[in-house]
Amino acid sequence: MKKRGFAVQHPRRTASQYLLSGLAKCGSCGKALIGQDPKGGKFGYYVCGSLMKRGAGACDTPYLPKGKFEGMVLRKLKEDIRPRNTFGGW
Ligand SMILES: [Zn+2]
Repeated sequence: MKKRGFAVQHPRRTASQYLLSGLAKCGSCGKALIGQDPKGGKFGYYVCGSLMKRGAGACDTPYLPKGKFEGMVLRKLKEDIRPRNTFGGW
């Protein structure tokens, strides 16, 4: 018997997977960071909006591994729980 009806489909929308996409800002240029699905590897990245739009060289900020970056931001949030929406200067 096949199980049907209870399979939860994960929405394939980027916004749901990258919780910081559009929220965190690039420390170099101030553009919002955008979540990027991995091309070949397992892990996604956050990329500066300038790099996304204008290509390599548009900003100094490298691609940020999703898990590492989110972990770092969450740690920062725990340390400093006051509302903020920019993460410049890390
Ligand atoms: Zn940037």
